[in-house]
Amino acid sequence: MAVIGWIGLGHMGAPMAAHLVEAGHEVAGFDVDPRMAERAASAGVRLVADAATAAREADAVFTSLPRSEHSRQVLIGDAEHTGLFDVVRRGTLVLDTSTVDVETARVCHEAAAARGIRFVDSPVSGGIAGAHAGSLTFMLGGDEEATSEAAALVQPMAGHVFVVGGPTAGIAAKLANNLMLFITLQAASEGARLAEALGLDPVVFHDLATVSSGDSWPLRTWYPVPGVVETSPANRNFDATFTTRLAEKDLSYALAAGDAAGLDLAAGRLAMERFARLINEGYGDKDCSLVVKYVARDGRTAGFDPAA
Ligand code: NAD
Repeated sequence: MAVIGWIGLGHMGAPMAAHLVEAGHEVAGFDVDPRMAERAASAGVRLVADAATAAREADAVFTSLPRSEHSRQVLIGDAEHTGLFDVVRRGTLVLDTSTVDVETARVCHEAAAARGIRFVDSPVSGGIAGAHAGSLTFMLGGDEEATSEAAALVQPMAGHVFVVGGPTAGIAAKLANNLMLFITLQAASEGARLAEALGLDPVVFHDLATVSSGDSWPLRTWYPVPGVVETSPANRNFDATFTTRLAEKDLSYALAAGDAAGLDLAAGRLAMERFARLINEGYGDKDCSLVVKYVARDGRTAGFDPAA
């Protein structure tokens, strides 16, 4: 069994770390927010005073942090912070499960390699529910030997593990996947509203679309009409299963990668514009499926009460 350091015990990190504890690993964890850290402690994570203490003696270090800038600061460091790459032992395996931009994953690989540390970009899909269930999809990018060790280590948290390719291949897969997710969310929103406007029963339409060519993950999971799909945020005033702020972040990284590659991601840009509007209206913490609100010209949205 391994000694593991875990930095970032938030909505994803805490339940993921708990699965490693259950699997018999010794996990030392740190989060800047003591309330988040406490929840992980109740699942058997040993809390330590700072990230360096969690990482120094570890065989492997995981990070689960909000944005690119946090991963860079924690792993590479800056004027005020020593990065973990300068703290861990040579040869340590470091896995960043955060969703970051491609450039951040690339500079992390370079900084790690320069210090003899084995880094794997290790983003996940499956959300908070998947983190609790231990059924996440892991997308691993890095050297062959490091990714094969990483693939074994993440098993207790995973439903599926893909060694996608070399450095940054994992994050590239994650961003391309989420680009498709947010475009198909827009499609499911427009289809749901058109079906309703044309007088169709929403349950009948949903049932037939899920076995027809309009099928998609958002259609099956987030159908944005109340009373059709149990897991839909529309049944709970669009309280977040996946916040608009997180969706906007992921999509901004995908669009930046597309720009850098000289692509025209027009549908992605439209989805981005809708998320930005939601955030500007103060709905950044609501579920991203609230974009359905912009389909009706009067903004009327069944299942959403802004005052509630
Ligand atoms: P979160 O905000 O709940 O957790 C992030 C944690 O990092 C917080 O507890 C925060 O206090 C902590 N943190 C920030 N800076 C830190 C630092 N310098 N040192 C130590 N801890 C620090 O976010 P989350 O929902 O758990 O997501 C984590 C990552 O996983 C993000 O990159 C996100 O994009 C990705 N992700 C999230 C989901 C999801 O559904 N929530 C799904 C897939 C991927």
